[in-house]
Amino acid sequence: MYAEATTLHLASVNGCVSVGARLQSRGLQIDPQCVRCGMAPETVNHMLFECPPALQVWALSPIPTALDHFPTGGLFTNIAHLFWNLPNDERMGMYPWLLWFIWKARNDKVFSNDDSDPNDIINHAASEAVAWRTAQETRGHTGLEGNPAELSRQRRGISPLQAELEALVWAMQCMLRQKKLTIVFETDCSDVVKMVSKPEEWPAFAQY
Ligand SMILES: [Zn+2]
Repeated sequence: MYAEATTLHLASVNGCVSVGARLQSRGLQIDPQCVRCGMAPETVNHMLFECPPALQVWALSPIPTALDHFPTGGLFTNIAHLFWNLPNDERMGMYPWLLWFIWKARNDKVFSNDDSDPNDIINHAASEAVAWRTAQETRGHTGLEGNPAELSRQRRGISPLQAELEALVWAMQCMLRQKKLTIVFETDCSDVVKMVSKPEEWPAFAQY
């Protein structure tokens, strides 16, 4: 389950999640409006963060929300907030599963016309997060190597460029663990592109 939640997390950032507005932009003749609320085009950000049922999940979850701060109209802002800015609280580790179960609830509505209770989504996410953490402890690991919430807590205080690079390395490691050996990573950070293509010019980052 963690692998799926992580994959959705990455796919949503990389634009690989199929929602109404995105499918229409690829030429498919479908209604781009959100099927759950009908109030806006169904973008990934709308589906995960701004659609009223999704907003309700975030509002009822332990993840702090604040007007004009989170959730916002920007997908990258929202994902970055979850990745880097959550308080140091064990319960924050549930956010990848919240994303996953919000996505599942959207599919249940689109394909089966089933409405999901927001509290059920939160409870499922919380129990999956606990099960994952327990499994890591049982194996004798700290669980830091694959959990973005834990990872981000350990890496506070690093520069934005280091953060970009850390996120790229983490995404690559996730793909490797899933035996995905041919993946295209896209970034809007030109320094990371230069770093990968000419690592000899960036000796301070040789540790990566
Ligand atoms: Zn909606």
